[in-house]
Amino acid sequence: MSAPAPAVTDTHCPYCALQCGMSLRQEPDAPGGLDVVERTAFPVNRGALCGKGRTAPGVLAAGARLTTPLVRRGRSGPLEPAGWDEALDRVAAGLAGARERHGPDAVGVFGGGGLTNEKAYALGKFTRLVLGSSQIDYNGRFCMSSAAAAGTRAFGLDRGLPFPLADIPRTGCVLLVGANPAETMPPALRYFTELKANGGTLIVVDPRRTRTAEQADLHLAPRPGTDLALALGLLHLVVAEGRTDEEFIAARTAGWDEARAAAMAHWPELVERITGVPVPQLRAAVRMFCEPEAAMVLTARGPEQQSKGTDTVGAWINLCLATGRAGRPRSGYGCLTGQGNGQGGREHGQKADQLPGYRMLADAAAREHVARVWGVDPEVLPGPGRSAYELLDALGGDTADGVRALLLMASNPVVSAPRAAHVEERMRALDFLVVCDVVLSESAGLADVVLPVTQWAEETGTLTNLEGRVLLRRKAAEPPAGCRSDLAVLNALAARLGWEKGFPVDPEEVFEELRRASAGGKADYSGITYRRIAEEDGVFWPCPERPGPEPGDAATMPDAAAPGDAGPGAAAPGAAAPGGNGSVTGRAGATTGHDAADGGAAGYGGPADETRLAAQAGPHPGTPRLFLDRFATPDGLARFAPVSHRPAAEEPDAEYPVFLTTGRVLAQYQSGAQTRRVAELNAAAPGPFVQLHPQLAERLGARDGDRLAVVSRRGRAVAPARISRDIRPDTVFMPFHWPGEGRVNTVTNPALDPASRMPEFKVCAVRVERADAP
Ligand code: SF4
Repeated sequence: MSAPAPAVTDTHCPYCALQCGMSLRQEPDAPGGLDVVERTAFPVNRGALCGKGRTAPGVLAAGARLTTPLVRRGRSGPLEPAGWDEALDRVAAGLAGARERHGPDAVGVFGGGGLTNEKAYALGKFTRLVLGSSQIDYNGRFCMSSAAAAGTRAFGLDRGLPFPLADIPRTGCVLLVGANPAETMPPALRYFTELKANGGTLIVVDPRRTRTAEQADLHLAPRPGTDLALALGLLHLVVAEGRTDEEFIAARTAGWDEARAAAMAHWPELVERITGVPVPQLRAAVRMFCEPEAAMVLTARGPEQQSKGTDTVGAWINLCLATGRAGRPRSGYGCLTGQGNGQGGREHGQKADQLPGYRMLADAAAREHVARVWGVDPEVLPGPGRSAYELLDALGGDTADGVRALLLMASNPVVSAPRAAHVEERMRALDFLVVCDVVLSESAGLADVVLPVTQWAEETGTLTNLEGRVLLRRKAAEPPAGCRSDLAVLNALAARLGWEKGFPVDPEEVFEELRRASAGGKADYSGITYRRIAEEDGVFWPCPERPGPEPGDAATMPDAAAPGDAGPGAAAPGAAAPGGNGSVTGRAGATTGHDAADGGAAGYGGPADETRLAAQAGPHPGTPRLFLDRFATPDGLARFAPVSHRPAAEEPDAEYPVFLTTGRVLAQYQSGAQTRRVAELNAAAPGPFVQLHPQLAERLGARDGDRLAVVSRRGRAVAPARISRDIRPDTVFMPFHWPGEGRVNTVTNPALDPASRMPEFKVCAVRVERADAP
């Protein structure tokens, strides 16, 4: 039994990757029994919250909140209330039955980027040890996996932002590609406002004139799916105008000749034809990006959710490398991760190919280390499994290696997966489906068993925000009677499935094990404790434990021992402690040290953070800034990506003449399973819409509010027209938060990026017609 929650609790928002700090005060008359109180001391948002954060307790009180397990007695019967024992027995029998009949890989697990680090870790361990299955992946694959792949390829390491958000106002120019923080994470907008107030400039790349683009000094609106060509065109101009940083390229990179040759094949007029962005705008962007001493490129889902997402992000990284805007103070490439634990959720073993600490399943040393922590033989660990869409596509018994039973946790693929009608059909074809959720989501509605779990303010756990800052989300309220934590569910199922070593239920106990499993990995959490996070308001990974591994336990740091693979935050043996600029302490009491201002004693201009911080005595302070000394590749050099433009998997043609792109709106989050149930949010954004340009509307004879059908080769979605000049005439936009006839993911294309297996949510070819046309 966990301790009761205090009257006022410092914690974080349940939603996006900004993980805004907030305090929750117990207030019996408020929705969910909690009032949200500003928490100005937390440096990331300084008290600011968007509407989702301000109304977050409403999701605890959602009328449709599940408080008892539901089971389907018979194939087509209704879901009916049941006791926990009956429900868990049915789940264990369903999973074990599929395993016995068809082998361990017939049981799949699908997780979520909203799970705490502890749950993501436990879910990966449960799948590989208790189920013995390789078939686990999560919805973060649909979020930023191509940026992760590109970052790993270029830098040897993927951390969304390799620097704190606080660095944004101190750079000279930010090139924001396919990101709309004004709607997705409004409190982050202040960083860009401060950038401009400091004399910096903001360039936004987006096919739509979004609320963020409205604030840009320059808005480039390329055709959907042509961001790669745009980046190549900019790099071409950088070379042609003599703006490359040859010294940086020679000292800190490899592969420039091939990347340069690819860029030179994309001359500006060609790029204008491909992208629709006029050459003068290309030149202006290059000038704005190159003239300041420092600049950044930040990407989000626009360039990432493409079937060439890894190469597209790679092209933007190339631009940073060629201009010396990476691995330097106030410069670099970063990805604005979307989901609440989109960063931590991908580090601890719920990805198909990874073990905790960003270790690769295919790496023998990694398997040995994690197996040792788990107390098993490395041989028992299965290999890599299918990626998220491929896993969903394999549900049902149509093929010999199909997945017959699925455990779904914190995800709603019936709404959020590409080609969603097909995914729904595959889920219906399963022999057995169990869903752990807080409400009866559209996916839970298909389940044989639904387990009601605790959420957000009802439990404690860690998350890692988009900066790589590990945070503690604290329990602030008692859960409804009848709900159990996901960790308790895994514990109970493990026992029923014959796992005798037990599965911890206490989050801190799980975190302690996670620390050991991550030790020496690229995402090293071994020096981070609950106490430290609480005292320091977050600790940036990598943060190795000091003093080092236990004597005689050399295998606890296998990656650190590997030549050139020490990782940017690994201790630098023998490194002299530099002086004079050590205010970024990260120690207890220095809660905002990571966010200290630039210059002088604040942390720049001298030896790089990772060396300086690693050389300090005492506990490792964490690593706010990466790559300043070296990149995390074996030779320390960043890699250019030799990439060329290629079209989207589906281009407009006579039958489907218009681009569709998808995205978010301010008042809803992801599949909307939570936010659609909060009255204020639902009132602000009650349903989907089709944004289209007046020219296209005129061709269709459509007026604002007319019901339009957006039709692709996979299906149709219907929603009211919203006519606007803020979108290209050749493109329509729909948000993806809703099920039913307005479910835009019925239409989207599951074509996969070969490197990351990211589906192409952001571009497909559609026909738009009046839904009421005969
Ligand atoms: Fe902050 Fe994101 Fe929560 Fe809004 S949804 S309050 S931006 S963490």
